[in-house]
Formats: sequence, structure tokens, C-alpha cells
Amino acid sequence: MAERPPTTPRPDTIAAIATAPGRGGIGVVRVSGRGLLPLAQALTGKTPPPRAATLAGFRAGDGEVIDTGLLLYFPAPHSFTGEDVLELHGHGGTIVLQMLLARCLDLGARLAEPGEFTRRAFLNGKLDLAQAEAVIDLIDASTTAAARSAARSLQGEFSREIRALLDQLVELRALVEATLDFPDEEIDFLEAADAFGRLERLRAKMTAVAERAKQGRLLQGGLHVVLAGQPNVGKSSLLNGLAGDELAIVTPVAGTTRDVVRGTLQVEGIPLHVIDTAGLRETRDEIERIGIARTWSEIEKADVVVLLVDARQGVGEADAAILAQLPPEPARITVHNKIDLAGKPPERRDGADGATIFLSAKSGDGIDLLQRELLRIAGWHPTEHVFIARERHLRALAETLGHLESASAHLAQLELFAEELRMAQRSLGAITGEFSADDLLGEIFGRFCIGK
Ligand code: GDP
Repeated sequence: MAERPPTTPRPDTIAAIATAPGRGGIGVVRVSGRGLLPLAQALTGKTPPPRAATLAGFRAGDGEVIDTGLLLYFPAPHSFTGEDVLELHGHGGTIVLQMLLARCLDLGARLAEPGEFTRRAFLNGKLDLAQAEAVIDLIDASTTAAARSAARSLQGEFSREIRALLDQLVELRALVEATLDFPDEEIDFLEAADAFGRLERLRAKMTAVAERAKQGRLLQGGLHVVLAGQPNVGKSSLLNGLAGDELAIVTPVAGTTRDVVRGTLQVEGIPLHVIDTAGLRETRDEIERIGIARTWSEIEKADVVVLLVDARQGVGEADAAILAQLPPEPARITVHNKIDLAGKPPERRDGADGATIFLSAKSGDGIDLLQRELLRIAGWHPTEHVFIARERHLRALAETLGHLESASAHLAQLELFAEELRMAQRSLGAITGEFSADDLLGEIFGRFCIGK
């Protein structure tokens, strides 16, 4: 029987390994709940002072030291979750961290669910929903620009914009609701208060925020690019050329070695997730088939198909066959590579089936044309201070704008006008989580890793 601390913590104390699996200099087990001092004492024999590092031996139930490390204690409410939090900084080995975690579970904690720490931070008002999402976006950021904008959102830049809009919306609502009680004077009253001017200014600001959020969404999701073309046409060379001086971050999206996903690189900070169709061949190998199926499901998400051909030969039958299999929606770019061998200048031409770019992956001539075309398709225009945003936010902003438009179409019917404003407030409030259903929270936090 594991010995229990004098006061067993409430069953909703959670614990998890917070650092990534594998070997590391240090590894962290995090515990969150109420009244955690008894747990700290049972584990280390010490009473840690708030927010200071204490060197301690972490002891197993039989008293033997599992590891020696630093103990940090953040009493509620001044912690990430808003509850008591303990951080056990031990050595970064898989087994030692598991032993440390198991000891915390013995002492009354339970294993945290994915995203549960951040969920508690949200529920305890330490973060709003947009900030909580920025936590995972910062962790998952695949370019420095995406990381910077996630950090901005995490610090509340996006949330402040949304709250400023909400304040103005609430003011306008208050005005309109007040008028409903005095029907005789309503129009004069609203005109005097410039209600319609306010509505129009709100719409203009909302449109500007939606535009910035769209850029943030691009940084978060990136552009999914499918690269098609025959062997030796220069696909690898083009990838290197596109990555340029910037580090080509190779983060294969999927797991098995035979997957043909090439990885992620960036152009002006926009992640380009490039998938190579070269591996899409007939096969009986089961594992390879799984890889290919996964690649196809990635291709379904493609925003752009880049077909690479040799500038000396142009588009051949095999290329046309690949194109015929690809989904029809993505934008298309045909790249004629090796213009240095064909003796042609770099050039961009418009066509019925998308742009055609002439370039040389080897010399780099014309690569800028391709980069510009990709950014144009993405809808990217360099904007200062982009904050990270998600599809969910864009939808909420679009809904809010829709209600504001309907409101301005119903100026004469005050009841409808008021109702549209009410719904606009609801849609906008969903971004920061002022109105959020449980299933939405489940969906958002379920995508986190355990320990976050
Ligand atoms: P992949 O099989 O499509 O990935 O093609 P690679 O990128 O491996 O290129 C095949 C060969 O073509 C290599 O020897 C490259 O150096 C060469 N190559 C690629 N792009 C160019 C180019 O623009 N000009 C010239 N002259 N050679 C190129």
C-alpha cells in the first residue's frame, strides 16, 4: 500500500510529464490541484516556499530517492492553472520521469487528460479561449513568424482587439435597447447618439480585424502544396531553391519512413507543407500502401498543385495523368524548370489553368516568381503585428460581420436591429470564450498534448 500524505488532495489533482518524450537534460512533471503542500512534503520531506526553486530528493514510497532535482511551488491563484501547481524538475529520462509521475499518482493525483492544464487555466480565468489556443499554436509553430504571432496572441493582443470590438458593440446595444422602451422618440434619439455612424465604424474595424486574422490563419495553417512531376525534373532542387537561405525545416507530417511527405519550408514566414507525389505508385507493400493512403488524404487538403516539367519538353502524358488524378479544387501552377538548359528567360505567364512559371532551380533565376505566385494564391500580404488565428475565429468574425450587415439593413425595424446586434455579440464573444459550449472546449483542448 502506498503511503498517503496526511491530507489526501482532492481527487481532481492532476499530474503529467510536461516535457517531450525522449532523453533530455531535464524533464518536468507538473501537478495541479488544490492544497498541494502535503503532496510536496510526502514527496520530498520539505515545505517549499512559494515561487522559489528548492533542491530536493524526490522519494519513492519506501523512502528511497527516485531522483534529485528542483521543486517549484506556485500557490493558487498565482500559477498557470490558477490552482496550486508543483513542478518537479528531474533528469530527462523516460523511466525516471515515469517513476516520478507514478509516485505523484500514488500520492493522490490522477493522470491529466490532453490539454487539461490549459483547460483549467481557461476555466479559472487565467487565459481566455483565444489565448489558450495560442498556447498550442506556439508549440506547433513551424516558422519563426508563426511562433511570433502565436506569442502575440498568447499575450492577449488578439483578445484585446476582440474585447475592444465587443465593448463598442455592447455600447451600441445598450443604446438601442434603451430606445426600445421609448418608441416615440426612437429614431431621433438614435440619430442624436450617432448609432448608425457607430455601426458603420464598427463594421469597418471588424473588417480590418478579420483581414489581420486571415493573415494569422495563414501563418497558423500554412499553405498545402502538392509537388508533381517526373523523376529528375528537379523537385528536390526546387525545394532547396524555395527554402533559400532560410532553414528548410523538415518536419514530416506523417510517421512511417516510406511516407512521401517532404516536409515544411517557409516563404516569408508562411509555412509551405510540401507533399511529393513521386511516391504515389502502385504497390503491394502494405506499409507503403498506408503511407500512400495518408499522402492522398493530405493531398485532399491541398491548396496548390505545382506541376514541374522540363522546360525543354513541356507537359507530357505522364504529367497529365497525375494531374487528372488530383482533386480539381486546388490552384495550379505549372513550372518549366531548367530554363538555363533550354536557353529561356525567367517568366510568368497567365493561363486558363493557372499561371506558368519559367525558372531554373539550379541557378535560382525565376524562383522569386514562384514564391510570389504561391504567396498570391495564399492571399498573403505582409502586415505588421499579425496575431495567430484559426478557422474557428475567421468563421466567428464572418458571422459577426453578417449580423452587423443585417442590422444595418433593418435600421427601420428597431426590434430586428437590436436582435441582430445581440447575435453579433454572441458570435464575437465565442472567440474569447465568453459564450462557449462544452463540446467546443472538448474539441479545442482535446488536440493538446498530455502535460500541457
Ligand atoms: P527530382 O528527382 O525531381 O527531385 O530532381 P533533382 O532535383 O534531384 O534533379 C535532378 C537533376 O537535375 C540533378 O542533377 C539536378 O542538379 C538537375 N537540375 C535540377 N534543376 C536544374 C536546373 O534548373 N538546371 C540544371 N541545369 N539542372 C537542374
